[in-house]
Amino acid sequence: MTVNPKPGVSGKPPYDDSNIFARILRGEIPCRKVYEDQWCLAFHDINPQAPHHVLVIPKSPYISFADFSAGAPDAEIAGFIRAVGHVANMLGFEESGYRLLANMGPDSHQEVPHFHVHLFAGRPLGPMLV
Ligand code: 5GP
Repeated sequence: MTVNPKPGVSGKPPYDDSNIFARILRGEIPCRKVYEDQWCLAFHDINPQAPHHVLVIPKSPYISFADFSAGAPDAEIAGFIRAVGHVANMLGFEESGYRLLANMGPDSHQEVPHFHVHLFAGRPLGPMLV
């Protein structure tokens, strides 16, 4: 699997292909894979914040949600969102429910500069605290 370096759609900063998720996509470091298709890779978070904490990332090099939502082709956006839904259903959370979260930029404390959606599930998650 190849992640092609390219500028983020925002133009600044450029996509850093040494980030940890790019390295996971290239198979340089392992992950506990949940699902993979042409649009995404889903794997368990290394530091889970819920009984089930899965990260779903696009295979293409988008820095953030802003980068992805502005720059990805419509087919990729649709394919990725459907893949997130598929992962949630595949793991069995259609009935019990789950929470999706995407951090974007410094105020959100986004740590890894490759767009990712957190999927939390497996217990009542309580109200959002922001
Ligand atoms: P962010 O704060 O960027 O939204 O979330 C990054 C997430 O990536 C964190 O929940 C963190 O635990 C997770 N993470 C960081 N490094 C690794 C890693 O090497 N492997 C996996 N599976 N998750 C990681």
